[in-house]
Amino acid sequence: MFQFLLGAFVAAAVMIGWRRRARRAEGRAVPPIDRAPDRTAERRTPRGVRASTLIALRDPVSIRDAPPGLRDLPMGEVLHGLLSDCAVLHGAEHAMLWSRRRTTGRFVLEASSLTWNPALDEWGTPQQRAIVEFAANEVGIVSFDDAAPPTLAAVRVALEAVGNLVEDADAAALVLHAPHGLTTPKVELKPWMLRHSARLSQMIELQQTHGALSRQNRRLRGLFRSAEDLERPGADDAPEQRIIDGMLDASGASFAALVRWDAEARQGRVRRVTANYPDPKPEIDAIVTAESLVGGVCRDGVRQLWSDARVLVGQELLYGPGLPVPPVGSLAIQPLIRKTTLLGVVVVGATEPNALRKSDLKTIGLMGTLAASALEAVWEIDSVKTVAMTDPLTGLWNRRYFDESLAREGLETDRDGGSFALVITDIDHFKSVNDTHGHEAGDAVLRAVAGALRDLVRTTDVCARIGGEEMCIVLRQTEMEGAMELAERLRQSIEALAVRFQGKELRVTASFGVATYAAQGGDVLRARLFKDADKALYRAKAGGRNQVLSAR
Ligand code: GH3
Ligand code: MG
Ligand code: MG
Repeated sequence: MFQFLLGAFVAAAVMIGWRRRARRAEGRAVPPIDRAPDRTAERRTPRGVRASTLIALRDPVSIRDAPPGLRDLPMGEVLHGLLSDCAVLHGAEHAMLWSRRRTTGRFVLEASSLTWNPALDEWGTPQQRAIVEFAANEVGIVSFDDAAPPTLAAVRVALEAVGNLVEDADAAALVLHAPHGLTTPKVELKPWMLRHSARLSQMIELQQTHGALSRQNRRLRGLFRSAEDLERPGADDAPEQRIIDGMLDASGASFAALVRWDAEARQGRVRRVTANYPDPKPEIDAIVTAESLVGGVCRDGVRQLWSDARVLVGQELLYGPGLPVPPVGSLAIQPLIRKTTLLGVVVVGATEPNALRKSDLKTIGLMGTLAASALEAVWEIDSVKTVAMTDPLTGLWNRRYFDESLAREGLETDRDGGSFALVITDIDHFKSVNDTHGHEAGDAVLRAVAGALRDLVRTTDVCARIGGEEMCIVLRQTEMEGAMELAERLRQSIEALAVRFQGKELRVTASFGVATYAAQGGDVLRARLFKDADKALYRAKAGGRNQVLSAR
């Protein structure tokens, strides 16, 4: 609902802006038709001009038949329609828009009420061309030839408009030609010509505004599409993907990353990156420090833009240590704020410098607002789930999450190949810690041991407390050798721990059992993995404790 309202608001704002501009343009550019005719016009028209016959080409105009210069103009059709109206109104056989090219000094036919034909470029006698050129140079003057009634009328068209249409034009004129004489009397034709000229400029201007707006509209449509996408029910993590995809749709960016911020912990984590994020890509769950650029935006909520981000490339200041800025041209960091809470940021980037500009921040900002409202719920659910899956004492995953992870890892290994390892550890003589120093001391030791484990495993590994003082680690894509090495490092780390508790220094050791599962090992082996590791742990205990043993 919120997204819909926002969409409607933006669409309305765009429409109002457009109509205002249109009204302003009309007020400014179109002179009233009943204005007194300009007396100077006739006096200054060059003499000695004779009527000429035009090769009339009456086929209906098609923009595809036009020469390349004209074909590329999006308003070709509009100009043709306007010129046709002028021609019909005054009984002209032909209405034309001529412009002089700055580079060549030549007058070129830009648009016509007739089908374009190469011969049209050769139109006119030298005298007729002289009238056109004269008109193009004189503000507010309508030029005629000497015939009665006149067969030719020309008026200047404002260069501000035409200059946008034809880049190197330095003068332009609207020309009516009727071999048998124009049907509107000279004196009436003057205000009409001025009006047509103003209308022509206004049309070109509006058309250009429209072009700019339709580019903006395309982006807004991308934004709305993403907004709709965000509302679609889907897998729990799907909105995250849709948000970064939507950011690319709605902005000029070519890649993006989504970071979730934890204000309490004063650090963030990378949640997702688009597939084309240039290397070095931050890993999912990689830690974003408070001192990094992203961390800074998370702390103060102020978005950042580097139109030229090449100064940042290679430095480790975007996310923090170990995560250097990839080769990028421009970069923006958009905070995701819901009410007063900052949920995270989206980092968007483009390969070219200046691909992201200040004007893009508007759409990126809107997308950020949509993203924040979608993410709030998703991440809230995620937090609740995390709490439900977390052991409150140690902050490690709990037994339930461990069971799920073990099952999932088995299936994923079967699918992807390789093998994974399971390490089980149990603190030695833990009962005596409780008995000697009390239960609270025991708790402190449990927390310290959990911390030691967490510090040494990869973010992709699952570290869980599965009961009492028994903890497990699921090591993704790991062979026995690597698992044994890690378990040994864990053992040493626990042995080296000095847990401070009420002025005392508590020391413990732990025993380890390690087992692995190789892809396609089958249901039986997969189910036996835990038992294998547990048996190894039992042997480690029986063999004197404080040691690591593998399953046989
Ligand atoms: P072993 O070397 O054979 O493992 O000896 P142990 O003393 O560790 O033996 P056991 O596994 O039987 O003892 C586990 C003890 O851990 C029993 C219980 O008092 C204690 N324990 C279990 N959960 C908690 C807990 O959450 N906090 C504290 N403080 N102690 C716990
Ligand atoms: Mg024990
Ligand atoms: Mg035990």
